[in-house]
Parts: sequence; C-alpha cells; structure tokens
Amino acid sequence: MSRSVRTSPEGSGRDLSEAYDTALLDLDGVVYAGGNAIAHAVESLSRARDGGMRLAYVTNNALRTPDAVAAHLSELGMATGAADVITSAQAVARLIAEQVPSGARVLVIGGEGLRVALRERGLEPVESAEDDPAAVVQGFGGPELPWGRFAEACYAIARGVPWYASNTDLTIPGARGIAPGNGAAVEVVRIATGAEPQVAGKPLPPMHRETILRTGARRPLVVGDRLDTDIEGAFNGEVDSLLVLTGVTDGAQLLAAPPQHRPTYVDADLRGLLTGQPDVTGDAGAGADGGFRCGGWTARAGEERLELEGDGAALDGLRALCAAAWTAGGEEGCGLDSGKALARLGL
Ligand SMILES: [Mg+2]
Repeated sequence: MSRSVRTSPEGSGRDLSEAYDTALLDLDGVVYAGGNAIAHAVESLSRARDGGMRLAYVTNNALRTPDAVAAHLSELGMATGAADVITSAQAVARLIAEQVPSGARVLVIGGEGLRVALRERGLEPVESAEDDPAAVVQGFGGPELPWGRFAEACYAIARGVPWYASNTDLTIPGARGIAPGNGAAVEVVRIATGAEPQVAGKPLPPMHRETILRTGARRPLVVGDRLDTDIEGAFNGEVDSLLVLTGVTDGAQLLAAPPQHRPTYVDADLRGLLTGQPDVTGDAGAGADGGFRCGGWTARAGEERLELEGDGAALDGLRALCAAAWTAGGEEGCGLDSGKALARLGL
C-alpha cells in the first residue's frame, strides 16, 4: 500500500469536534499527567462531548482495568464509563483468543487489567508454567511484580508456548523520574529466551483495531502526545491525528519527524479540538523562495537551519515550520537546525 508522504499539517475547515465523530484520546500527557488533569483538558473535553463528539480513551497501560481508568477520569471531572476506555490488555486478549482454543489457559505476567481482559474473551488466567498454558501474556505489572514471574514466562516459552505482550513502551515517566515500562520487562524475557512476542499495543494494528471495534468510530481522530506510539498508530491505521504539546514531544522533535510520525494537525493542548485548524499555504514546486505561510508567519528551509519571519500566534509559526521542515526532509527526518526559529516562538 502506498501513501503520499505528508509534507505539511492540514487545515480542517471547521472545528475538529465537528469534523470527526470520535476522539481516540491517549491519557498520559494528553488528559492527565502524574495523576492530575492537564490544563484545559476537562473543559475542552466536556465541550467537545456536548457538541456531539464521542470520547474514547486509549491506553497502552495494561495494569489498570477499564473500570479503574474510568473511575480516575470521573474523579478528575470527566464523567466516563468503562466502555469508553480501551486498553492494550483488551487488544492482546482478543489477539490471543483468535489464536488459541476457546477457554484455553493463559499464563499471566502482569496485573489485574490483563486478567479481566482475558476472562472477557473466555480465556482462563493462570499463574504457573505448570498449569499447562496455551499462551503466555506479558503486560505492565507495577512495581511489586516479583522477579520470579519472568522465570515462569521463560519456562513456558522454552516449551514452545506462544508469547504475547500487551505493549512494548520501554519507559513510564513518573513524578520521580523515568521508570522501566513493560517494554523493558519484555526485554528481560527476550534476552533470556531468544524468543519474540506478538505485540498488540500502539503503534501496532491490533490496538487500533480494538478501538475501532469497541467505539464503532466511522471518522476517528487520534489525539496523542507521542510520535512513536499515538501518531504512528494513527499512520498505521490510516486515520487522522492531532498532536498536542502537553506531553513528551517538543517542537524540535516534531520538526525532525519522519513521515510516519507526522500528525495531521498540531495544537498546544486539547482546546485544539474546539477550533478549526488553519491552512498552511506555500508551493514547494515554486522553489523555497516563497516559503510556507500560516497566520502571520512565513517559514523556509535554509542551508543549515529553518528560518522564520513574521508574527502572530506561536502555533501558526510552528505549523509553517512543520511544512518547511517536512518538505525539506521528504521521506526522512529533517536535519536542519530549528533552535533559533523555535526560540522566536517561545517553543
Ligand atoms: Mg501519552
């Protein structure tokens, strides 16, 4: 399948909450950070929903159940039901159920979210390699997961039992720093066994398929803060995406993004759902002289750096820079220095 390479953010013509029927929202860095709601998230989501947009929350974290995630969101002020939460545990449970006999036993290395998701598919979670499992599944188990759990996985995998992972996020950012995520735990088992797991979570197709099956979205918009999970997942699912700058991605990373990491739209935070996205104009075919324009800004790719002139809203400047950088980068990431241009925007 060939797709044209994205060389610019797009204009939306109307508010995103009207242009799309469902928002598929990442949680950490988008809706909350460190347990607290991100600025403008609660009001923006309430208004988008009042306007008729369906909201679904899509997380790679397999530890918590949809009930627990929904309760947390409701506590923050966004009334949410468990059916509005989709987890990588659900995606991997469906993947396993399609490949093992119905009612099969599955060895769980992880938390309650995985066990609940397996039971929902009619599978039986078990705790030991001696329980004759038909599959091994590994998801984030939290800080209390004992080392011996990895040994159980290795014993079963060594006998040829197929191995699955909910997701492979290497790290989990927290208040005290960066902690190892499920991807790091998967590496432990991979190194010990030499085996390869089947993986469900973002950016891979099983997760996107799970969200579409559960929401029935016809025109979804993926909303995320990470280029290599949220935005790449939207790219792989061939749906549009909005990057918000409230999480782990900064302007420089966005400008250097290769094609699969380039979002359809970019905005500062979730207020972007309630507005139309402006057009970026410019003609790459006419040469670099004309530059790319958005709002009051014009951006160009110079010899060594991205150049920006004009004034206006910072996000419009960033959108113009994206067009200049992505056009210059083509099918690769753009290597031009963006520091001075971004400093001008305060980004
Ligand atoms: Mg995130």
